Amino acid sequence: MTLRVDMPRLQADIEALAAIGRGGKQGGIYRMAFSDGDMAGRTWLSERLIQAGLGIHQDGAANLGARLGGDGACVMTGSHIDTVPDAGYLDGALGVICGMEALRILKERNVSLSRPVELVAFTDEEGRFGGMFGSQAMSGKLSPGAIHDAVDASGQSISEAMAVRGLNALDALRAQRDPGAIHAFVELHIEQGPVLDHQARPIGLVEAITGLFRWEVSLTGAANHAGTTPMDMRQDAFQGLAEFAAEIDRVLEEHGTSRSRATIGRVQLLPGAANVVPGEARFTLEVRDTDAAVLAELGDAFGRTLFAICRRRDLNFTHEISSRIEPVACSSLVMDAIRAASADFEIQALPMPSGAAHDTQMIASIAPAGMIFVPSRAGRSHSPEEWTSWAHIETGANVLLNTLLRLAR
Ligand SMILES: [Zn+2]
Repeated sequence: MTLRVDMPRLQADIEALAAIGRGGKQGGIYRMAFSDGDMAGRTWLSERLIQAGLGIHQDGAANLGARLGGDGACVMTGSHIDTVPDAGYLDGALGVICGMEALRILKERNVSLSRPVELVAFTDEEGRFGGMFGSQAMSGKLSPGAIHDAVDASGQSISEAMAVRGLNALDALRAQRDPGAIHAFVELHIEQGPVLDHQARPIGLVEAITGLFRWEVSLTGAANHAGTTPMDMRQDAFQGLAEFAAEIDRVLEEHGTSRSRATIGRVQLLPGAANVVPGEARFTLEVRDTDAAVLAELGDAFGRTLFAICRRRDLNFTHEISSRIEPVACSSLVMDAIRAASADFEIQALPMPSGAAHDTQMIASIAPAGMIFVPSRAGRSHSPEEWTSWAHIETGANVLLNTLLRLAR
């Protein structure tokens, strides 16, 4: 049996949600967690689920969804409807709306299933308060302390933001699912990168989701007069940083894989004057890979490189680990279902890693999990430029629907 989504209805829903929270000069979307836009999106989703006769369910972490079928381990699908500021209309929303459409089709066709199917829109995936709040709660990774410490860039806490909406953030501790409660989890998402578009492939089969570490590095030398200090007598922190940046490609070649990425995304020079040799260079180093052992080796190699540069240039360095996410391998149960569902439509799904973090990464710790990617035009995302052709959206939605069918029958 192969099922198909109702494309006009799916398209109308994607357009309707895309209109919620839209603003700014470029027409970007603003649905940051618990903002007015996010709340309006939640209301819209609730109404659509109720209209479809699916009912709604909201857990203690304000994860919003619906369930088709009764008790027992469920097949779950979902993503998020919150956004970064000035976002595109598909990141997250695509997975939630296509998941809703899948539940509608399964219900309307009266498909007999041996497992319940559940939809979830996770809270704060995009990180107004740090990110993946809902999927962390569902997978039991939150603590009262972590909830207390979750604040946005303006200093407002998630507890305050939820209280304004009549919610208690500590209830998130009750959102954890029992082991075995989720038979399998599937997330449909835009790729947010250029690979599928570039290779003209309609479906990506995610094999692993990249992990990362982020360092806050400080190189210190000596601030001094830019005119009177000879070049060979300087302890120039910026020169050390520049040399380190030039070593990134070599370190990746020697110690990384084709999936490794390293980025210096923010730099600050102190004291920061045109006529002063920089005494301190502060910068971030973010390194990603899909293999935990490779990430560990890259950490060692970058540390040794910094050490050697500092010794040569008479500098000191310190680094703090500000973030660390373990890579996740996708489940063969879910990957097999995605591969077979793609074959139903005569598509050979392209095996690939996910370079971006997703809720699937959290849920993978409590259930077999996997992801389906559809192409992002020119790889654009987290921007109003984000888009995917309707044909590719239809294909992705059909593959999701039939993946869920295969896992739940
Ligand atoms: Zn997303």
